[in-house]
Amino acid sequence: MATYSLPDLPYDYAALEPAIVGQILELHHDKHHAGYVTGANTTLEKLEEARSKGDFGALVGLEKTLAFNISGHVLHSLYWQNLSPDGGGRPDGDLGDAIKEHFGSFDGFSKQLTNATTTVQGSGWGVLAYEPTGKKLIITQVYDHQGNVGVGATPLLVFDAWEHAWYLQYKNVKADYVDALWKIVNWQDVAARYAAAVAGTPAA
Ligand code: MN
Repeated sequence: MATYSLPDLPYDYAALEPAIVGQILELHHDKHHAGYVTGANTTLEKLEEARSKGDFGALVGLEKTLAFNISGHVLHSLYWQNLSPDGGGRPDGDLGDAIKEHFGSFDGFSKQLTNATTTVQGSGWGVLAYEPTGKKLIITQVYDHQGNVGVGATPLLVFDAWEHAWYLQYKNVKADYVDALWKIVNWQDVAARYAAAVAGTPAA
């Protein structure tokens, strides 16, 4: 049975400096992301054991742990790809047009995503997602890795708001971290994810 595995970073640990220092990237990828991968695999093994024994007494806790770790793995895999040493600027083409259509302007969109990221209570994410039922771009504020998520929406651009993503460098000033993120967004990656999400939308 296939298990989850930690993807390599698409760049060196220090490649996103000065926006994100290498020490953060190394810990974030090698320790935190790796922990979610291990957690997902371990939880699947526990579920297999529960099935084999016919003992589902711990099922509720295992399902929550599974959602937490798989979502953590998915979001971090996306986060690395969403960022680039050559990133920044604004998207044009279909994605740029869609952002204007659904948020009024790029500035309105960026302010909303910035605020969604900086105002997360506790740990979470600010996320730009494609919602296929309404065929809309939406911004969601995710709690932990899996809470407050609209079912079926595809994340396209994710900003990690957990303290492990920025505190070593930015201390208590989360807003400066989010400002720096905008300078390293890989819009080519976001645009490719948008095109794939739209193409994959089933007929309503
Ligand atoms: Mn993280």
